[in-house]
Amino acid sequence: MQLAEFRNEPLCDFKGNPEHKRRMEEAMEEVRKELGREYDLVIKGERIKTPDKLYSYNPGQKGQVVGVFSKADAELADLAIHAADETFKSWSRTPAEDRAELLLKTAGIIRERKFHYAAWMCYEVGKTWPEADADVAEAIDFAEFYAREILRLDKLQPLTPIPAERNYLRYIPLGVGVVIPPWNFPLAILMGMTLASVVAGNTVVLKPSSDSPMIGHKLLEALEQAGMPPGVVNYLPCPGSSVGDVLVGHARTRFVAFTGSKEVGLHINEVAAKTPPGQVWVKRVIAEMGGKDSIVVDSEADLEAAVEGVTVSTFGYQGQKCSACSRAIVVESVYEAFLDKLKRRVEQIKVGSTTDPDNYMGPVINARAKQSILEYIEIGKKEGRLITGGEEAPGPGHFIRPTVIADVAPQARIAQEEIFGPVLAVIKARNFNEALEIANNTEYGLTGAVYSKNRQNLEKAADEFFVGNLYFNRKCTGALVGGHPFGGFNMSGTDSKAGGRDYLLLFTQAKVVSEKLAP
Ligand code: NAD
Repeated sequence: MQLAEFRNEPLCDFKGNPEHKRRMEEAMEEVRKELGREYDLVIKGERIKTPDKLYSYNPGQKGQVVGVFSKADAELADLAIHAADETFKSWSRTPAEDRAELLLKTAGIIRERKFHYAAWMCYEVGKTWPEADADVAEAIDFAEFYAREILRLDKLQPLTPIPAERNYLRYIPLGVGVVIPPWNFPLAILMGMTLASVVAGNTVVLKPSSDSPMIGHKLLEALEQAGMPPGVVNYLPCPGSSVGDVLVGHARTRFVAFTGSKEVGLHINEVAAKTPPGQVWVKRVIAEMGGKDSIVVDSEADLEAAVEGVTVSTFGYQGQKCSACSRAIVVESVYEAFLDKLKRRVEQIKVGSTTDPDNYMGPVINARAKQSILEYIEIGKKEGRLITGGEEAPGPGHFIRPTVIADVAPQARIAQEEIFGPVLAVIKARNFNEALEIANNTEYGLTGAVYSKNRQNLEKAADEFFVGNLYFNRKCTGALVGGHPFGGFNMSGTDSKAGGRDYLLLFTQAKVVSEKLAP
């Protein structure tokens, strides 16, 4: 199979391209008519209804049901793992080219309906049009990238020649994976982890987040349309807190691909470390977790660019990205000037429903998240000086005003704990060296950025700023598949670098065959 070199999916331009705007408006309308339908869980292609239901709500419109989903219990979780295990026997022997083909077809189906996928995200998780479009584009990128990657790994791997022997190494799949994504990139991350598993020859049980089961179902539909054999991906909405442990702890589960919070990631790691009777392997856990990401603003920075970078990194998708900036660490000599400009810029942000493309910020994901963010804002008001925001915003959903709190101490709670909402702590540093020290003072290590024109300072940051993804003179969000392999250090995860050339290795194991040649 010959494929053109990987290129990132182009993004839509809803402001400049009237065709994009028209198609998105149409998709929003069509999807709106589909809201509230019922969906079954799917094990080995079989649709199963359960009496217990999970409701997915529009966070921007209280009470609006996006979809109603059959919810699995422990028994169905067990059935799903066994179904995946059974299917593994044939799928693991399916040629890599055919597996790659499934991803390419799936990417094609999603590309064709990209406005609809984006529209579902606007309704289900409150993404604005550009954020939803970027999520779809990243999902397509993962499919295209991993399809190429498996073809590369499937080729003969270089080994040192040994006289009178014929040796070769092949990457073979692991077995059954449990895929546990978060809601904040409901298509891209869910699809990235699922398709990486599947293209490597594994079968999976996909447990979508309870806040975004709809988008997971939409991926399943695309995979089925693309010809996926039943049982390769089993779709299992269920409560993570109870049934999650059954899936993770199951003796036939070979690996877990998780993206979510530190707390849940560490719990999964512990459950997976136990060896139930009958389990003959050490489970592999690929865990990408939270962040508390900083942007350092040096005295020699372009302040306008820094203000813009901090604003979009902090408030894009309401601050609900693991890569979102939540701390601006600003060198003393430019601190007040930076704050002044930042306040003016942030106060231009419009908050409201993402059905209206003029709004830059939509709702936060649910009532619980809103409550927790507002509590952090109250803590922040005591820990620093409120510059702007600091309260909920009017509207029919979970809206919060973009909030900036200055003069925050480096060890303050809002400077250390992941808030996962539109809240920025601004911290003053005496000089660049101190700014870097502060940047490294959390338990996380996901993304970071530095705004500076001083080459020496940038080089120092390249050596010392301990994060998986470091950016210079640009925002700290918006990693692109292929160009910015993504994943963090320390409590941000196992640094799996999604969208990079090492990623598929995590879903395989290497087998070496050595044959003594007759003299
Ligand atoms: P979460 O940890 O609450 O949930 C993640 C997933 O785990 C969900 O599907 C949930 O249902 C499931 N879950 C919960 N308890 C479980 C259990 N006991 N067993 C198995 N599964 C269980 O996270 P979230 O709120 O969905 O997402 C936000 C978090 O994700 C933030 O902390 C964010 O930083 C992080 N995140 C990290 C990355 C990254 O690449 N590092 C990317 C996106 C999001």
